[in-house]
Amino acid sequence: MSADAGASSSKKPSLPPGMVLGPDGKPCKICTAFRHWKPPKQAPSPNTSPASSTQQKTTAMMAAFASGTGFSRRQEPDEPVRPADCPPDVEELGRATWTFLHTTAAYFPEKPTQAQRVNMLSLLRALPVLYPCSSCAQHLGENMKTRPPDVSGRAGLSPWLCEQHNEVNERLGKERFECTVEKLDERWKDGPSDGSCD
Ligand SMILES: Cc1cc2nc3c(=O)[nH]c(=O)nc-3n(C[C@H](O)[C@H](O)[C@H](O)COP(=O)(O)OP(=O)(O)OC[C@H]3O[C@@H](n4cnc5c(N)ncnc54)[C@H](O)[C@@H]3O)c2cc1C
Repeated sequence: MSADAGASSSKKPSLPPGMVLGPDGKPCKICTAFRHWKPPKQAPSPNTSPASSTQQKTTAMMAAFASGTGFSRRQEPDEPVRPADCPPDVEELGRATWTFLHTTAAYFPEKPTQAQRVNMLSLLRALPVLYPCSSCAQHLGENMKTRPPDVSGRAGLSPWLCEQHNEVNERLGKERFECTVEKLDERWKDGPSDGSCD
């Protein structure tokens, strides 16, 4: 639960914004974005030249892009830049997991065999148990109880997953994605019709 997401913020008024607690009541590193875990750097000391500080940021940013982590949101000027080879935070783990899940759903057969359905169901049911971000896993588990996975075929699975992702997007104040098979295939399998990804 994060300081900006509800319950524990009222119980723990001193919790830094965005810091998420784990089930043990302690700060949960893999449930928290790096920029919320690591407090912003102090203003550069008089010994640090503005040029070298800018150079450090540029190098770290290039490392982030080179590692494929990139940035999908605008960085705040004083935001700490996460070195490329750090363990994942909640955002990097989330992007990688959504990439895997949406891509797997996009390539799921129209008419899966019984074994393919059973395995997909096992994969999805394992997430609320095994996903390392415990608060994410808990939300997902609750949502999966009210809306169980549709493993009848990719036409059911892709939009189902999209709605699960949208639930997280909404909770985090992000835009909803249009959950049509056409839009999902464009994003996760075929690329846009202008050929820019071919
Ligand atoms: C199961 C799960 C639960 C999570 N729960 C939390 C949580 O409780 N708290 C938290 O802070 N973070 C959570 N995350 C991480 C969060 O969803 C994001 O991955 C993370 O914030 C990084 O966001 P992003 O803006 O880079 O893009 P992401 O949300 O990771 O999306 C990656 C790309 O997917 C595409 N996309 C966006 N929405 C959809 C959609 N609905 N369907 C298909 N494609 C889409 C977009 O092109 C986007 O660029 C969770 C991740 C997972 C996998």
